[in-house]
Amino acid sequence: MRSEVRVRYAPSPTGGLHIGGVRTVLYNFLFARQHAGRFILRIEDTDQSRFVPGAEEFIKDSLRWCGLEPDEGPTQGGPFGPYRQSDRKAIYGPYAEQLVRADRAYYAFDRPLELETMRARYKSEEDPNPQYDRKIRMKMRNSLSLTLEETERLLEDGTPHVIRLKMPEENIAVSLDDLIRGRIEFQTENLDDKVLLKADGMPTYHLAAVIDDYLMDITHVFRGEEWLPSAPAHVLIWRYLFGEEFMPQWVHMPLILKPDGNGKLSKRDGGRLGFPVFAMDWTDPNGETHQGFKEIGFLQEAFLNMLAMLGWNDGTGQEIFSLDELIAKFSLERVHTSGAKFDYEKAKWFNHEWIKRSSVERLYGPVRDLFGQKGLVQDDPEKLRAVIALVKDRCSLLPEIVEQGRFFFEAPTSWDLDSIRPKWNEMKFRFFQEWVDRIEDGPHWSATWLEERFKMQALEQGLKAGDLQLPLRVMLVGEKKGPPGV
Ligand code: GLU
Repeated sequence: MRSEVRVRYAPSPTGGLHIGGVRTVLYNFLFARQHAGRFILRIEDTDQSRFVPGAEEFIKDSLRWCGLEPDEGPTQGGPFGPYRQSDRKAIYGPYAEQLVRADRAYYAFDRPLELETMRARYKSEEDPNPQYDRKIRMKMRNSLSLTLEETERLLEDGTPHVIRLKMPEENIAVSLDDLIRGRIEFQTENLDDKVLLKADGMPTYHLAAVIDDYLMDITHVFRGEEWLPSAPAHVLIWRYLFGEEFMPQWVHMPLILKPDGNGKLSKRDGGRLGFPVFAMDWTDPNGETHQGFKEIGFLQEAFLNMLAMLGWNDGTGQEIFSLDELIAKFSLERVHTSGAKFDYEKAKWFNHEWIKRSSVERLYGPVRDLFGQKGLVQDDPEKLRAVIALVKDRCSLLPEIVEQGRFFFEAPTSWDLDSIRPKWNEMKFRFFQEWVDRIEDGPHWSATWLEERFKMQALEQGLKAGDLQLPLRVMLVGEKKGPPGV
């Protein structure tokens, strides 16, 4: 075992950072901080066909917004760099060759058409997706099925080839101790001979991740449960190359599920069900934009709190946690093994709680910016602070503070007269005319002073103050609803 805890988030820059990714980062981050360890960002960009421009920047921006900045990474640098796999390309090939020499891997010369033919030929009812494995490999074109001379000639001729991991000929059990799931055992007879090095000399994720975890002294691998099926191949690659001593601890986290629990939450669910799944607004290469938690008006504190609870709780029923409290209380023993359903209403509840708990000072900056975006430029900080204090407890998303508070900065342009017409009469008309004449703007204005005057005048004129409130509200804000006291 290594002495210092070092964990990594290793995204492939194939799109925006969605909440599953941020939760992985968060659990990594909490674990690293708890153990005075290091949190590393590594960009796994060896699959050029899936590369999306801008995705890496987006991931970094999202982490910055969340306050989960890595200790080492492509931007921060660090003693184990470079931290982008395309910049480490030269490192991987020799390890793949080392595996070939040790008879743990082999060269495979099959072209895409040959692979297709193989799949079609061996497809059967019990095996609908035949894989390149120990049963089939001797029927394919590789250094196991060809003679040494044939293999050498093909290599000398520069024939395009990949390097594949050689699963053991006889079935063996590969087990790993997952810190959430306990001991998990796999049988190698069910596993395919994964490609390790591609024809373009680039490693696949499987090879590159293992080598980099080793070279970067990674002690714990946190990742989504969807990687569990690949884990036995990783254990074998690790064992063959580096032995058992420094093998990291595995931590496969529960999936985040659709609200109905029916499968993994996807970016399409957000559009379909009307909620964000990305940390920040993200535009796909096809131009489709997906909403982000930031832009829709979440506070980072609430976003992270909500994510922490998707798969973990402290066992006491407490739901609201600051990042510092999470660092103190998070424990892998209390991470669930079953998937966590995403519930947007609950996410908004967290935000509402955090807006209520936040000081006016905390909210001031983002709210002032939102007013600015609506063309309501704020040059009176004291007034804006007072408005935030007045309305914030009723808001679940930050833009609601603008909606609820805008009346204080702009006169309405339309009035919901229909709501007051049925009960409107001459007496009320006279009341308001006189009210306007009587109250003169001045420093003596305060909510209580105005309220007292209002009630007094109503009494004088034989009217019920309660009957006058709705018309007053519509006159001031245009609508039936509005902030308290208006
Ligand atoms: N590059 C993989 C991904 O995109 C990382 C998986 C892992 O953490 O090992 O999710």
